[in-house]
Amino acid sequence: MFIALSIVLAVALGASVLKILSHRRAVRTLQQAILLKQPLLREDLPEAAGPAWEQLRIAGNELITEVGQLQQQRTGQLAQLEATLGSLQEAVLIVDASNCILLANQALQAISGRVATRIIGHRLESVLHSAEFLAYVDSVRLGKAQPQHAVELVEAGQTTWLEVTGTIIHSQGSSRGPWTLFVLHDITKQKKLETVRKDFVANVSHELRTPLSIIKGYVETLVDGREDIPVEDRERFLKTIQRHTERLNSLLEDLLVLSRLESINPGLKREAVEIPALLTSIIDDYRNRPAAAGHRLELEVDSSCGTVFVDALKITQAVENLLNNALQYAPKGSRVHLTARQQDLGEIIVTVRDNGPGIPAADLPHLFERFYRVDKGRSREKGGTGLGLSIVKHIVQLHGGRVWVESRLGEGTAFSFSLPLRGKSDA
Ligand code: ADP
Repeated sequence: MFIALSIVLAVALGASVLKILSHRRAVRTLQQAILLKQPLLREDLPEAAGPAWEQLRIAGNELITEVGQLQQQRTGQLAQLEATLGSLQEAVLIVDASNCILLANQALQAISGRVATRIIGHRLESVLHSAEFLAYVDSVRLGKAQPQHAVELVEAGQTTWLEVTGTIIHSQGSSRGPWTLFVLHDITKQKKLETVRKDFVANVSHELRTPLSIIKGYVETLVDGREDIPVEDRERFLKTIQRHTERLNSLLEDLLVLSRLESINPGLKREAVEIPALLTSIIDDYRNRPAAAGHRLELEVDSSCGTVFVDALKITQAVENLLNNALQYAPKGSRVHLTARQQDLGEIIVTVRDNGPGIPAADLPHLFERFYRVDKGRSREKGGTGLGLSIVKHIVQLHGGRVWVESRLGEGTAFSFSLPLRGKSDA
């Protein structure tokens, strides 16, 4: 009797264990299906699991399909938003209430230097290192921001100027709101141009002020002193006035030349010019000038140099500016060498070399800037305007060429420019 009871109990226990195991397998299968978002087939569940599991499978499948549809919809919307923002030139950024980046478009990469999709989820302060920008973000949240605010951003030693506009988005149902949307416009180019313009006006005013105040002073002395001034002093005053008037005149002339070269229509009159003939006539003309007395002027033109399509007057001016400098800065007795040679790249290289004092290496990168002088006093004393090399650069660049300088202190200086050799039709 006891044995029979034991057998019945053992069978019942075995059946229960099997049932538990099959339920456990069914739970695992369902869990896996939800995780992978893959609907379950009837045969995926163990048969022994029972009809309640079949209802659970159907309900689970419905949920999985619904979630899939919602996800597809969201991905589509995001893709649409990203495509729209991606085509914008302006950088767009959305942050939540704790400055966590929710959205950033492609254009932001140019500003932050980081791929837009990789900054999503990061904090704003770790992406754009600007206390000024963060202060602006706060002022937008407080509703106290100006509509367009310029902020300076320094990343890896490079300064970028941004015009930022921010607005609050009241995101419904989000615990991380309100969100703030920013449109950032890169205005670095405009800022740089503005600085160049301001510097230029300041430089011109400075250059005009000195000779004008000297002229004014001497004229006043002459007018007030009348007959009391000895004749020799009067003559000396007049000569000084003359010198400074000439300086003003050359400054205005150079400024006019520069402004014409920088205008939309610089009036380039290209024609076929034989480089050897042009350089020979320039050197012949210089040999008769008093400024060249005491210098050794030499010309060396490679026989391969032929015809270029250039504005002869402008190229003459560029060569003359370089020759004038060599004659001015290299002492009497120095050698001034004008050469031209053809380079494989299809360009002619013209060089003016002197064995004068040379130029310190630190000054070389700035020489072609307007009003840049190595020795300000010496340049002014020699009647220099500080614009000669800038004019050379503009003329050469208008012809599609390059300018450069090589110099060693105590050994001399060589200024070179290239002129592309192109067919007449390209000119
Ligand atoms: P500037 O009217 O003062 O000569 P430039 O633009 O022609 O103006 O030249 C800029 C500066 O470059 C000069 O002030 C001078 O200091 C320097 N420089 C130009 N050419 C030479 C040269 N051949 N040797 C030494 N210094 C030179």
